[in-house]
Amino acid sequence: MSETTSSLAPADLQALADDIKTWGRELGFQQVGITDTDLEHHERYLERWLAAGHHGEMSFMAKHGTKRTRPAELVPGTLRVISARMDYLPPEVETTKTLGQPQIAYVSRYALGRDYHKLIRKRLAQLAKQIEQRVGAFGYRAFVDSAPVMERALAQKAGLGWFGKNSMLLNPQAGSLFFIGELYTDLPLPVDEPFASEHCGKCDACQVACPTGAIVDDKVVDSRRCISYLTIELHGAIPEQYRRAMGNRVYGCDDCQLVCPFTRFTRLSREDDFAPRHDLDRASLLRLFSWSEEEFLSNTEGSAIRRIGYPRWLRNLAVGLGNAPPSEAVRAALRARLAYPSDLVREHVRWALAEQAQKQAALIAAE
Ligand code: SF4
Ligand code: SF4
Repeated sequence: MSETTSSLAPADLQALADDIKTWGRELGFQQVGITDTDLEHHERYLERWLAAGHHGEMSFMAKHGTKRTRPAELVPGTLRVISARMDYLPPEVETTKTLGQPQIAYVSRYALGRDYHKLIRKRLAQLAKQIEQRVGAFGYRAFVDSAPVMERALAQKAGLGWFGKNSMLLNPQAGSLFFIGELYTDLPLPVDEPFASEHCGKCDACQVACPTGAIVDDKVVDSRRCISYLTIELHGAIPEQYRRAMGNRVYGCDDCQLVCPFTRFTRLSREDDFAPRHDLDRASLLRLFSWSEEEFLSNTEGSAIRRIGYPRWLRNLAVGLGNAPPSEAVRAALRARLAYPSDLVREHVRWALAEQAQKQAALIAAE
């Protein structure tokens, strides 16, 4: 802690905390809260989740030990966490309607535009700069879904929402379609009340709607079944038992949020960065599958999608095409990829062709 900050009187710290929230809103965050670093309860939950193997191939979830649940072990000197949330759903973007159009690709609505990490980190840095102008040099680090940080747990403690049964953070006025970022800081700011009440009640809409049964318990998602994990995190083959359930979801999945009654309170984002690029909110599976590797790299430049790489992009789209209504155009596009130099892609293309053939045969038999 710097000399300047250690000498701030409690009243100054309270005024600073109030200003941080105002500055945060001026910078485009919808809500900002402050919490301490005690995540003991969440540490036990994480241990149980990891012990059950629910993290699948995401070894990074286990590899940082207690740094994830003890912020001061990750950033020495951290006393408080400033947690901020930003809505992301762009206007005029369909959600469930697109899911119901099996020839259209469904991309998770958070990934339609530019990579959110940069924008949110930049805004957090601006917030830190404003604090610095007030108190002088102080210790901080900004995070956005990029380090071993318990983002949702910290946000819940900072009063931003509760953990829904789908394990997402839910806010009664905004649903769950928002990003969370945080500033770890050595400022001894007054903390906010945690969001203590839970409003799910008897609702189980998310558990019922999950296409793969991935919500295995209250607030417990088994990533190995989750379409978000299967399409984004998993490097190898998508287990066959989940391929049909993926439908047209080719990058992420929003079902457990879209059915949530609190999603009707979603506030639309006016951030240009989150607006869909290359019609990713409405493009056909065939069109995206026709992208060359060069087109994929150029069209996903600055987008979170780029990180999965071209072979996994084709893998996901092949599954979507296997699930699409039978058509010669789909089969021709798939056949054109049968020689693609990746076992992973070829295997999914063969599966998709078999699905298409089966549906075509059923169609002919029904005539
Ligand atoms: S993201 Fe999709 S697959 Fe994963 S838990 Fe939610 S509904 Fe299920
Ligand atoms: S769908 Fe129902 S149970 Fe699931 S998170 Fe929303 S309110 Fe909670």
